[in-house]
Amino acid sequence: MHISQRQLFFDHLAQTSDFPLAIEIERAEGVYMYGTDGMRYLDLISGIGVSNVGHRHPAVMAAIQQQLDKYLHLMVYGEYVQSPQVKLAEALAQTLDLPQAQTAPYGKINNVYFTNSGTEAVEGAMKLAKRFTGRYETISCFNAYHGATQGALSLSGAEFFKRNFRPLLPGVRQIHHGVMADLDLITTRTAAVVIEVIGGEAGIRVPSLEYLQTLRRRCTDVGALLIIDEIQTGFGRTGTFWAFEGYDIYPDILLSAKGMGGGMPIGAFMASQEVMSVFKNNPVLGHITTFGGHPVSCAASLATLTTICDQALHQSATQKGELIKTMLQHPMIREIRGKGLMRAAEFESFEVLKKVIDTCIERGVITDWFLFCDNSMRIAPPLTITEEQLREALQTILDVLDEQ
Ligand code: PMP
Repeated sequence: MHISQRQLFFDHLAQTSDFPLAIEIERAEGVYMYGTDGMRYLDLISGIGVSNVGHRHPAVMAAIQQQLDKYLHLMVYGEYVQSPQVKLAEALAQTLDLPQAQTAPYGKINNVYFTNSGTEAVEGAMKLAKRFTGRYETISCFNAYHGATQGALSLSGAEFFKRNFRPLLPGVRQIHHGVMADLDLITTRTAAVVIEVIGGEAGIRVPSLEYLQTLRRRCTDVGALLIIDEIQTGFGRTGTFWAFEGYDIYPDILLSAKGMGGGMPIGAFMASQEVMSVFKNNPVLGHITTFGGHPVSCAASLATLTTICDQALHQSATQKGELIKTMLQHPMIREIRGKGLMRAAEFESFEVLKKVIDTCIERGVITDWFLFCDNSMRIAPPLTITEEQLREALQTILDVLDEQ
């Protein structure tokens, strides 16, 4: 008897909800994914913030291919000199060679620790902050998502996702993203504040310039490290290469993952040499990973970075984002939030939104809601999307809304 792939998916893949999309994809190219049933889907969420240069970008594919011909894994992290890691670290340092580095107490970020994922970058950064400051209190935001391992989960800003996994890390406190008064909770006991520039899973919350600049000053004043999580905003999504650039601030530790790999798994936490060097002693090997900075992922990531910078895709994200804002006008949409190609369209309720999302998928446009904001539609297409493709997708959404 023939058992379908779909059935095998339900039988043998660990499920984390009773309602996976369960669309079977045969191949993907650019902004499109092609189902085994012949459907063509426009990926309006970039596999959740990953395919910033689209699926299988030719430059990324060529870089992967070239590295495949040289070597795969050679040795656990940090022992051998591997050219894909070195080149990528240097290129990342260049993106961080910014004038506002002078405003950060430990200066320019020029050291990169590569990881396999976003949550592992968060874990490494939390350890680094503890070790560097000798403190353990860590502050994060309500309704923030920083990952699913236990340290990152401790930072999660929603009790619903933490309750049944306690005890988690002690000394974690939450503040409200964008609320000035809460910054008083950052004190000389604080090792680090972990924060996104734009609150992603909270439903795309854009704070004021004044808020982020005050946060930076407060961290400096009390000796807490400012850890900026750019795992979702990073690599050009919000109109600048890093989202913090738009606010004229500079982090002490910067986190990246997701879109960084152009579709390959990779993450990083980055700091100045002064901060990062504490991992060398007390204990030696302060953080360890086997696969972090895999050469194929690093090669793909460098091609992604170069493609975004050479084609100024981050700048085009600003215009395309404006198109979303102006075109997606409908009585059912209460608000469009966001920056660049990181957008949320707010509806009356989850029930209304869910029907819209499901119908859009039937028409070949993939959107989503947010972990901590279920009345808002996630719109974050590859930065490579053409204006025509974007217009077509937005028109599909508007047509679906007209039919409700
Ligand atoms: N931080 C942010 C802001 C994220 O959006 C995510 C992933 N959604 C993570 C951390 C965790 O990344 P990963 O899934 O690669 O562990």
